[in-house]
Amino acid sequence: MLIRFIIFLVLTYLLYRIIKYFRKQKSVKMNAYQSKVPPSAGEDLVEDPACHTYIPVSQSYKKEIAGKTYYFCSKECCQSYLSEKSNEKSQ
Ligand SMILES: [Zn+2]
Repeated sequence: MLIRFIIFLVLTYLLYRIIKYFRKQKSVKMNAYQSKVPPSAGEDLVEDPACHTYIPVSQSYKKEIAGKTYYFCSKECCQSYLSEKSNEKSQ
């Protein structure tokens, strides 16, 4: 009976080692993938002039208005800002 218990322990240990090995492989692949993506930390934040939230430059919606580049969080914000501007002019 003791032999069976030892065999069970050895098999459990081997299974543990196999799982650990595959997990390590997976994390190595993930690290390799992440290194291709440029780090987003320390990226410049820009203010959305329509809703006044801050968004990273790479995620912003850029629009040039009267020679100046504006950064919006979404296309909808850009459009609402543009309509707001045109309302100001008409008044
Ligand atoms: Zn916005």
